[in-house]
Amino acid sequence: MLKILRRIIQEVNAAQSLSEALAIVVNGVKQAVQTDACSIFLIDEMKGEQVLVATNGLNPALIGKVRLKLGEGLIGLVVERAEPMNIGHAASHPNYVHYPGLGEEHLTAFLGVPIIHQRHVLGVLIIYQVKERCFDEAEEAFLITLSAQLSGIIAHGLAMSNLLEQDHSKTPSNQNVLTGISGSPGIAIGKAHLVYPLADLKSVPERKIPEAEIESEIALIEAALVATALLISGLRDNIKKHGLPEEECALFDVYLRILESKSFAQEIITEIKLGNWAQGALKIVTAKHISRFEEIEDIYLKERASDVRDLSERILAYLQSRKSDVRVFPEQTILVGDEVTPAALAEVPEGKLVGVISIKGSSNSHIAIFARGLGVPAVLGIEGIKTAQLEDEELIVDGYYGQVYRSPSAALRHEFTTLIHQEHEFDKQLETLRDLPAETMDGYAIKMYVNTGLSPDIDRSLNVGAEGVGLYRTEIPFMTRDCFPSEEEQRLIYRQVLTAFANKSVVMRTLDIGGDKKLAYFPLAEDNPFLGWRGIRITLDHPELFLVQLRAMLQAAEGLDNLQIMFPMVTSIAEVEEALRLFRQAFQEVIAEGVVIKKPLLGVMIEVPAAVYQAQAIAKRVDFLSVGSNDLTQYLLAVDRNNARVANLYNSLHPAVLRALMQVVAAAHRENKKVSICGEMANDPVCAILLLAMGFDALSMNSAGFLQIKWIIRNFRMQHAKKLLEEVLHMDDAIDIRCYMEQALEEVGLGGVLRAGN
Ligand code: PEP
Ligand code: MG
Repeated sequence: MLKILRRIIQEVNAAQSLSEALAIVVNGVKQAVQTDACSIFLIDEMKGEQVLVATNGLNPALIGKVRLKLGEGLIGLVVERAEPMNIGHAASHPNYVHYPGLGEEHLTAFLGVPIIHQRHVLGVLIIYQVKERCFDEAEEAFLITLSAQLSGIIAHGLAMSNLLEQDHSKTPSNQNVLTGISGSPGIAIGKAHLVYPLADLKSVPERKIPEAEIESEIALIEAALVATALLISGLRDNIKKHGLPEEECALFDVYLRILESKSFAQEIITEIKLGNWAQGALKIVTAKHISRFEEIEDIYLKERASDVRDLSERILAYLQSRKSDVRVFPEQTILVGDEVTPAALAEVPEGKLVGVISIKGSSNSHIAIFARGLGVPAVLGIEGIKTAQLEDEELIVDGYYGQVYRSPSAALRHEFTTLIHQEHEFDKQLETLRDLPAETMDGYAIKMYVNTGLSPDIDRSLNVGAEGVGLYRTEIPFMTRDCFPSEEEQRLIYRQVLTAFANKSVVMRTLDIGGDKKLAYFPLAEDNPFLGWRGIRITLDHPELFLVQLRAMLQAAEGLDNLQIMFPMVTSIAEVEEALRLFRQAFQEVIAEGVVIKKPLLGVMIEVPAAVYQAQAIAKRVDFLSVGSNDLTQYLLAVDRNNARVANLYNSLHPAVLRALMQVVAAAHRENKKVSICGEMANDPVCAILLLAMGFDALSMNSAGFLQIKWIIRNFRMQHAKKLLEEVLHMDDAIDIRCYMEQALEEVGLGGVLRAGN
């Protein structure tokens, strides 16, 4: 059964349209369970109907025409109950409805399984049999498994097609509005510019070339094959030197044989001669080879498909590094991609980036954080669209409501342009707060710092009047290069930041890669990257990287002395002590080299539950703590911050998170150490009030929402904030807490800053 299931899903994935995919399912299922008929009904939400969309065994002329009212018939019962119904004699069931002409009169047994996507019933998959009998457990289990796997594909297909429309010539009215998750607030109007992940065959677009370019594309692929062969034999020799047994090296020999085989090269050249560019030709030929391997029943040989893919991606990496793809960014660039990375943001020339759309990611992903840092609206986690379809289209990005409007009408454009204008007006009013302290109406002052990392962000941070940098994410310079930056390169980058904020403190975080922050030149393939090799775990395992970074930071601070350093992702005291030992080593080395600097303050980020419980022991050993609430929320709630599917479960107002934060503040203060918060919570008006009441010494946030938060603090009383905190601590649910706090802000006339989607 597993084999059949796999085959059906594979064929469905390769289908060109949703109706073709559904036909594959009904044919495949009917054959697999040897039954007399199989059908699929999908729900037309707009009309409140259940529509027959595919059948094998019933009257195919009625596909699209049989439309039952929602809840009608046995199908309606499956939808209503959202569970399978296995009925031996369907016609005698009280809910049975006969549909003339459908041809089900002679069918007796009925098994209907709901197709459910994200708690939402999309339709029903049904098998019927002439013989009166209940389908057995294995058949039921098969259908349930298939339906669960199909649901995502069907949801995607429905969003993309007008299958349920009676008049197929009409385009569904809502197809021009794409809905995702708000990643960064604001509104942008601009033109889509696609980013493709590097060395990813799937994302290589089809591109035809003129005859004049055929020769050069052939030369390119030939050079790529030679270069990749050299690389692979180098890798093989290297691995052999490490004493790996001969069989382990066999894979490299397989790669070399493919590379050197005339037929592989020849097949690619043939595709180029047909007018495909080299990358596209490689993609076509690889796909053919992969499908040949995948058809083979032998498990070992099947696995070879992934070797072919791996090898081709290495060749592709070479092609891409050689292709001087001159990227022309539109004046108002909206970056669009399956997974837009912070490095891709950094590539857009200054002043041109106005919006971001990423299929992957959610509001707590790093891409969202960087977009917010740049004040650029972002919509993430969109389903039902292939990014290539958006290339060069005019778009409106509504980062408040997580929506994207394609090719907008003049009227819609006008409406959004007015909103953008109003936003600018509000921002201008806030600018008057720039040099005023963040002090409540009853005289309680809190420090306000910025989070930064991208260089255009530095100017924005200075413009909002921050008292310093509470978190400088050092990852970006590492992500935008093709190897680790040298000590001197790093020194220059850090020096720029420290100089820009001279006389103000700058907290630099040591390299925090892993999770969703990847380096192209340091690949980490892990099943659970957020639970894997991340942050301090990597840098302690690679002291050569850590020491170089610490030395560069220290050297950069010479004559400025405004540097503070903090360590991310700490889970144990042993890690703190090892980090401190390496810091001392770097410090002594730099001093011995004649650099004149004071010892910077050192801090630890509290971002995993273990560190919450050891916060006091950590605070004892360092100068300050800083809570990384983005990660702390993800680890306390066991919700991947990057996964749109569970984004609704990610909530920093969860009572468990609030209690953890209070515990950290108390632990730091018991040791007379300062504690700040540098996660996105600080930027959320509702959370900021609660953090103030908890006694955090400083809030650090991206520059985009900075002045709004200052405005709220200056218009609030600490006494009121404390009372609200006390009340929400008696509440059990994050959503209730948010509603309660929003109401409190409305009541004091501060509701204007509440962000949609929070
Ligand atoms: C955090 O986890 O809250 C944090 C500030 O670090 P990052 O978002 O970079 O992981
Ligand atoms: Mg973090």
